Amino acid sequence: MQPNPNLKNPYPSMRTRGDGRQDSQRGRKARRSRPLFRWLFLSTIVVMFVVLWEELPFLKELSTPFRVQEAKPVTGLHPVVDEKQKELVELAQAIGISVLITDGFRSIEEQDAIYEQGRTTDGPIVTNARGGDSYHNYGLAVDFALITRGGEVVWDMDYDGNGNGVSDWMEVVELAKQLGFSWGGDWSSFPDYPHLQMDFGLSIRDLKRGRRPPEPEPSGSSGSAQQSS
Ligand SMILES: [Zn+2]
Repeated sequence: MQPNPNLKNPYPSMRTRGDGRQDSQRGRKARRSRPLFRWLFLSTIVVMFVVLWEELPFLKELSTPFRVQEAKPVTGLHPVVDEKQKELVELAQAIGISVLITDGFRSIEEQDAIYEQGRTTDGPIVTNARGGDSYHNYGLAVDFALITRGGEVVWDMDYDGNGNGVSDWMEVVELAKQLGFSWGGDWSSFPDYPHLQMDFGLSIRDLKRGRRPPEPEPSGSSGSAQQSS
C-alpha cells in the first residue's frame, strides 16, 4: 500500500525531510525545560526550608550562633563597664594611686586609624586589632595610665607612688580584677598592659554577629525621688 501523499502525517515531527530543523528545536526545548523544572523544585525546597527555619523555634535556636543579628550601634561604654571604671579610679585614689582612664569606647574608624599606626603611619604599633576586632569597639574595654605625684602621665609598671613597696600599676590591675575586669597584660600573645575589659562571656565573633551583653535595668524606677549629680 502506497502512502497517500494527501493524507496529513499524524506525526509531523517524525518527518525527516524538510522538518529536520523543527525536530531538533523541539529536542532542545525539552532539554532546556528539564533544568528549569529542577531549578523550580530546588527553589521551592529552599523557600520551604527558610520558612521552617523562621517558624520552628528549635531550628532558630540552632541557627543563632551562625546568624548576624541586627544590633543597636554601640556609641559609648557599656553602663556596667562605665560604672566599674569609675569605681576603679575611686578605689585606687583611696590607696594613694591616681589612675587616668586614657581610652574607653572607640569607633571602628578610630580603631582602624590606630591599627595603621606603626604600619602605614608614624609611631609604634599599639594594637593588633582592626576595626571591629577590639572590645573597645563594643564599649567593653578601657585603657589606663598612672598620674605621678608630680602630675605626669606615665605607663611605668615599676612606679610606686604610694610607697608601699608594691608597683602601683599591679595594684590597679588587682583592683580591676576584683571589679570583674580581665587584664590585657595576661594575654600570652601581644600582651596589652594598660588594657582592661569585660567580655560578659562574649567573644569578638559573637559581638561581630550582633550579640550584645545585657543592659542593666534602669535603676531608680522605685526610688524616683532620688537624685544624683
Ligand atoms: Zn585597650
